[in-house]
Amino acid sequence: MAMASWFSRLRRSSQRFFFTSSALRTSMSTKLARTQNTTNSESPKTPFLFWSSSLLPVALAVSAGSLALRPQSDPSLCEAPSANSRNEFVVKGLCKEVPQELVDELKDVCQDNMTMDYEERYNHGKPQNSFHKAVNIPDIVVFPGSEEQVSMIVKSCDKHKVPIVPYGGATSIEGHTLSPNGGVCIDMSLMNHVKALHIEDMDVVVEPGIGWMELNEYLAPYGLFFPLDPGPGATIGGMCATRCSGSLAVRYGTMRDNVISLKVVLANGDIVKTASRARKSAAGYDLTRLVIGSEGTLGVITEVTLRLQKIPQYSVVAMCNFPSIKDAADVAIATMLSGIQVSRVELLDEVQVRAINIANGKNFLETPTLMFEFIGTERRTS
Ligand SMILES: Cc1cc2nc3c(=O)[nH]c(=O)nc-3n(C[C@H](O)[C@H](O)[C@H](O)COP(=O)(O)OP(=O)(O)OC[C@H]3O[C@@H](n4cnc5c(N)ncnc54)[C@H](O)[C@@H]3O)c2cc1C
Repeated sequence: MAMASWFSRLRRSSQRFFFTSSALRTSMSTKLARTQNTTNSESPKTPFLFWSSSLLPVALAVSAGSLALRPQSDPSLCEAPSANSRNEFVVKGLCKEVPQELVDELKDVCQDNMTMDYEERYNHGKPQNSFHKAVNIPDIVVFPGSEEQVSMIVKSCDKHKVPIVPYGGATSIEGHTLSPNGGVCIDMSLMNHVKALHIEDMDVVVEPGIGWMELNEYLAPYGLFFPLDPGPGATIGGMCATRCSGSLAVRYGTMRDNVISLKVVLANGDIVKTASRARKSAAGYDLTRLVIGSEGTLGVITEVTLRLQKIPQYSVVAMCNFPSIKDAADVAIATMLSGIQVSRVELLDEVQVRAINIANGKNFLETPTLMFEFIGTERRTS
């Protein structure tokens, strides 16, 4: 999680607070009361939605409109040797030649919104933010524009026994979007619309390709926000599939706690809805939570109903330095046990603080550091 906006929100006059071992012996609430380096956010409208501005590159956004359908004589290129010249590993998979019949069927469904262009396939088979060096290239990339198209694509792939890999913002860091067996990559970027906003119920129905940052831009004028903030560029579909968390998980939970219902295209092309919009229901199996975190293995998510939160009036950030990671961890635990309402807490070691200093021209004390954020009304947070 990027830290840039944490620091930009600390006033220049803020003093750092260095907790010593002896300080740890006093109660946590006393310590927090003594913390001098707190900062009232200057605007109630700029609280913390965009704090994860990029320290790492933003995931590649692919515009389907710019892609041309260029069939090749041998479309099955998932082991293309030319990729090795880029000093990356193309892991051998079990890919087989994609049947021309499948290519024709996909073209009927997707028209120009599909490609077999090598560079596009390469970009979709190369992890954009992953530590892995492996590049596993799909044979075809499709860009469906609707749930019905997703269903038809999946039905065709099922018929020809060709693997599929759903693709969101490609910010996952464990090679999730690789296509080790070639096949069809289903890029969801065209399905990026808000379908319905229910302000009084505080929920929103979206297509899976919308990013959490774009969603929050849409919601801000209504005083609402969605409190999960993983990598910049992550999409709601990918966030469901990875059961992601974010810096506010300590207060709002993870994706598991913030998704009300899903629509999913199963492996045979059937479309299922996992739950109604009702918050309180004990009926049936909890299919929503079965799909959350399934990493594209149980189906392609085509619609998501999300729980929303009110944008808090005020936020306060406290940055606390410690002699050791152990001391910082002890204070974090003590804070939680004290019942103080924390909206974010992040632990940085001295190496991370140094990286932030270098990247942002700051001069923060390079010791283990806890960053807290508290939210609420002006009176409560001051
Ligand atoms: C700088 C940075 C910070 C990050 N911080 C966090 C963090 O704080 N917490 C955290 O949990 N993660 C974090 N991540 C990881 C990443 O952002 C999350 O895993 C995110 O949820 C991935 O979403 P995505 O849209 O990029 O998915 P992708 O990377 O595109 O895909 C991830 C997986 O989801 C599947 N998938 C995508 N769309 C669908 C769909 N519609 N239906 C079914 N399956 C689908 C893919 O097949 C793949 O298996 C961070 C990453 C970066 C680069």
